[in-house]
Amino acid sequence: MDCIFCKIVAGEIPAVTVLDEDKVLAFMDINPASRGHMLVVPKKHAENIFEISEADLAAVMGAVKRCSGAVKEALGAEGITVLQLNGKASDQLVPHLHVHIMPRWEKDGMSVSQWEMGKGDREVLQEIARKVQEHLA
Ligand code: 5GP
Ligand code: ZN
Repeated sequence: MDCIFCKIVAGEIPAVTVLDEDKVLAFMDINPASRGHMLVVPKKHAENIFEISEADLAAVMGAVKRCSGAVKEALGAEGITVLQLNGKASDQLVPHLHVHIMPRWEKDGMSVSQWEMGKGDREVLQEIARKVQEHLA
């Protein structure tokens, strides 16, 4: 398969590895958005959150928690942004599920969470919640 992160997992292209476990690999992002920016991926290819098994995602998120704590201590980060994108509409570029860990500092100038806030209409929110629950059942 022509997947860049599968090639990193297979050792076919180099990456700076942080954590190598049974189901999960964590490595430094090649174009870091902040100091210490790393990615956590499942070793078994899954394009996105819809495809990955709950067990593999749980393994990824366990590693995300540990790597977040470790990089926070290592670099003295004041916060951590954890980001995971699914599909072109959400700006996912690499179609192999990955979780970004981005160490943050106050006044670091990053703006990943600066979306424009809407105003929630309770009836609309309830209708959406009801529709989602139908698909969870
Ligand atoms: P996203 O798909 O969530 O938009 O972001 C993909 C991320 O993968 C980017 O932050 C980009 O810098 C990183 N990336 C893309 N190709 C490589 C690569 O070959 N090696 C590493 N280490 N990171 C990569
Ligand atoms: Zn892959």
